[in-house]
Formats: sequence, C-alpha cells, structure tokens
Amino acid sequence: MTAIDKYLNDFCIGRDVDNIEDMWQNVYVSSYWRNSGVLNNAISGLDQALWDIKGKRAGMPVYQLLGGKSRFAVQCYTHAGGRSNEEVIADVQKYMAMGYQHIRIQLGAYGGVGTLGNNPPFREAGFGMETDDFMDQRAYLNSVPKMFAAVRKACGEKVELLHDIHERVEPLDAIGLIKRLEEYNPFFIEDPFSPENMEWFKQLRMTTSVPIAMGELFNNINEFKMPMVNQWFDFIRVHISQIGGITPAMKIARLGEWFNVRTAWHGPGDVSPVGHAANCHIDLAVWNFGIQEAVRFSEKLQTIFTGCPTMNKDYMSVNEVPGLGVDINEKEAAKYPIGTKSRWQVRKSDGTVIRP
Ligand code: MG
Repeated sequence: MTAIDKYLNDFCIGRDVDNIEDMWQNVYVSSYWRNSGVLNNAISGLDQALWDIKGKRAGMPVYQLLGGKSRFAVQCYTHAGGRSNEEVIADVQKYMAMGYQHIRIQLGAYGGVGTLGNNPPFREAGFGMETDDFMDQRAYLNSVPKMFAAVRKACGEKVELLHDIHERVEPLDAIGLIKRLEEYNPFFIEDPFSPENMEWFKQLRMTTSVPIAMGELFNNINEFKMPMVNQWFDFIRVHISQIGGITPAMKIARLGEWFNVRTAWHGPGDVSPVGHAANCHIDLAVWNFGIQEAVRFSEKLQTIFTGCPTMNKDYMSVNEVPGLGVDINEKEAAKYPIGTKSRWQVRKSDGTVIRP
C-alpha cells in the first residue's frame, strides 16, 4: 500500500494510460534496483489495473486483448488433504463426486507439517516462536508414497493426482521421493527444490520422467529463464503479482510455448479475486495452458469483489464483461480491515529453520 500510495501514484501522473508496455518498462527500472517482491506486487497492481482499463475502453474482456480464447474454459485442480490416509481418501472422493478430475493430495499441511510428530525438542527448549511448526522430514518422505498407494487403491487409476513437496526436504531426498512416486503416475509433483537449489533439476531430469511444476517463489526472470529453456520442469507456476503482473506473465507463457513448458499459475486462496481473474484471462488465451489451481469464492467475499470468476465442476470461467470482470466494493471492504498475521515458520527438531 505504501509503495502504491507514496510512490506509484506520483509515478503515474502525466503518463498515457494506453501505453501499458511503456508504463511497465519504466516502472520496472524506475528504482534502478529491481525485482523486489514488494515492488513487483505494487507494479502488478498497476499493470492489472491498466489491462482492466484497456478492456473497458475496448469494450472487451481482457482475454480478447491477449488473443482471444484457446479453450472454452479453464480446467482446474483442487486441494484434498487430511491428517490420515483415510481422511485424504474421503476428501478425494468428495471432490471426485463434485466433478474434479485433478486433485492435489497432502497429508496434513504442506510436507506433513504439524501432523507428523508434534512435540519437538526445540519447543521444549523454548527456542523460536510459539507459532513455529515442526516438520519431521524423514516421516514426511516415508508417508507420501504410502498416501499415494492408499489413494490409488481406494480411488482408482483415472483420477489425476498432484502433490506439493513445498521444497522442505534435502534435494537428493526430493529426487528419491519423486522416483518412488513414479508407479502412481502423478499429473505433476510441485516445488521439489527451494530456489537456491535450482541446479538439482539437472539431476532430477536424468533420474525420473515424473512431470514437475515449479516457480511460485520466483521474482526474477534470471531465476527461471534458463531452467525453462533447458526444460528442467514441465509447468511454470509463477505467482503473477510476484513477477509484476499480466504483462510479464504473458511473456513467460510465450517463452514456455517454444519449450513445451505449460502454465500452472499459482492460485491459492490468498490470491485476491482480481488476481484469480488475471490468471484466468491468461489461461483462456495462451496455447500452452496446463492447469489452474481452483478457488471457490465465499459468498462474503463476493459481496466485496463482485464479478468473481466462477466454477462449473472443475472448469473456471471469467465474468464476460469488459476488463478483468471483477470490481471492488470499497465500502463493503472497509468492514474487514486487514489484520496483522503472526509469522509462521517451519523448523527441524533442533530448531533449524527449514527453507520453503
Ligand atoms: Mg507450491
């Protein structure tokens, strides 16, 4: 908010609202040092607003400005989870009954955090914050193939299964885990390595043919340009506001087209409906769309954000009005002030921070 109110407002005065590319290039280098996560998100707010305005001026939904539809709607996957294999199976069956064909399965939270072993020595020693979580990496590595086996046995071969490692194990352990998952034919495995460990993709690709999705932590083209060109992963999963909006996301999608890297934009519940709409407009337009992380907006949220994308079974559609299709009712939004959220950290048993 500070970056927008105290910096971008002044930056925008006197510039031509029609020239999105020029505006983006200018703001991208305006602070000389670039690719900060915070400024990229602020730039994305500006960029998505400019695409929305251009759509409204043209009288077209944004996907029309991006080239028109390559598909009738956007196929999505959803999240299933539980604290035991039985709970995961029940959740998968619930979503299959709703029409989902692609389902991400997690035991507990990401990486079994908080589920597998609850009383770590660091907590007893009073190390870290009370809100910090414990992850038993070895227990996690052993549990995931068993979860896949149980879900395949109960739910059959037809449902597509996905899993997010969330980077929280040693690179070679992640490779070993993915190899063990081969027999369950996953649709993709997500985030095997932290961004500091990108070179390990070479080893991963030589070891297994399981499709890989990567990239929600990327901020900067240099983190993923050569990995995409080298085909180190199959799905690029950047968080669109984190890289600066629709303008750079379209370039990433086009780069991927020539290297058979498909899009799977990051779309968790804490992306705003405007962000989900931006994802969905791109998903409709680009040829190399892979899959989209689904979200169902609560009725309360829809009183604030009118015109949210809608789900029909596992397909997402945008509101077909000009622009991005989502408007914000600021009066309604003011009823829900942004709270402060305690920082959440994951640690090993001795208290060492585990990098996502
Ligand atoms: Mg992830």
